[in-house]
Amino acid sequence: MKSKRLMFIAAAALLFVAAARVPRTPQPAAAPPNPPQGHDFVLVIHGGAGDYKDHSSEQAEAGRAAITRAAEAGAAILRNGGRSIDAVEAALRIMEDSGAFDAGRGAYYSRAGVPEMDAAIMDGKTLQAGAVASVCHIANPISLARMVMEHTQHVMLVGPGAEEFARSQGVALVSPYYFFNEREWKRFQKDEAKKGASLADEHVHGTTGAVALDEAGNLAAGTTTGGTSFKMTGRVGDSPIIGAGTYANNESCAVSGTGEGEFYMRDVVAADICERVKYLHEPLEQAANDVVMKELVEQHGEGGVIALDRQGHVATPFNTNGMLHAIVRSDGKITIETYKP
Ligand code: ASP
Repeated sequence: MKSKRLMFIAAAALLFVAAARVPRTPQPAAAPPNPPQGHDFVLVIHGGAGDYKDHSSEQAEAGRAAITRAAEAGAAILRNGGRSIDAVEAALRIMEDSGAFDAGRGAYYSRAGVPEMDAAIMDGKTLQAGAVASVCHIANPISLARMVMEHTQHVMLVGPGAEEFARSQGVALVSPYYFFNEREWKRFQKDEAKKGASLADEHVHGTTGAVALDEAGNLAAGTTTGGTSFKMTGRVGDSPIIGAGTYANNESCAVSGTGEGEFYMRDVVAADICERVKYLHEPLEQAANDVVMKELVEQHGEGGVIALDRQGHVATPFNTNGMLHAIVRSDGKITIETYKP
């Protein structure tokens, strides 16, 4: 009897030990590592994903020259301990002014024969964001987006309201002639002759965007664009939509997209990548690749993204033939690629 009781106690003890070893609730995944101390800076800029086969050598050269200047200007800010949001804005103003991209002076024309531009900027530390859409008289929409972020209680202003706000901030409104661009005028005339190049016919995307990590370990993202060529008046793409074409969060990553905005909006591409990093603890490259090379491809959504996390990892997937992009790190070396290696 006594030995039976001893056996029962031993079995119960074994069961208890075994049960204690089985986790009752799923264990939380390991938290993402902290950014390295001393924070090396990183700046990544894109000049649009699309078909680069038809780019003339002059166009390619102009794009490379502009993206180099933008990378140098952004890197100079970061090297002096400046903020990632300042580097993003400074780099994108140069891209807008260059006329080499679908933004600012190079913006595609809408069906009305004038550029209608969208832009957004986001601070990964505070999650503050600003955006403008359908503006026609603003030389640097990326800076107006930043003013919306810093000087209003709103995230996005559009059309005449955005331009009225610009005026109130002392920003001069420019005439549509300011944006006159031979290349885009010819494209517009061709599209008009075809009466409606559908989105699917267009494989050019010259939108520009930037993501940066500063020495304080803060991320930022920005995107600025004329949208798709020959778009309907009033059409707004993904670029100014926080979470679709632009997103930054210190807890995950910073993303700027380029491609057919309708797909980026439906898939909330930028937020999807960041949330995979944040909640599923996916490495940045895997998250960006899964969204751009699987999800978007399955839906025939053309485009690419640049993505950056606080550890300085960079991902630049694109499912088009090319995506001009530049990467500059603390060592000052600027790497520029258009095609996959
Ligand atoms: N994503 C932009 C838009 O749909 C276009 C582009 O990236 O070229 O407005």
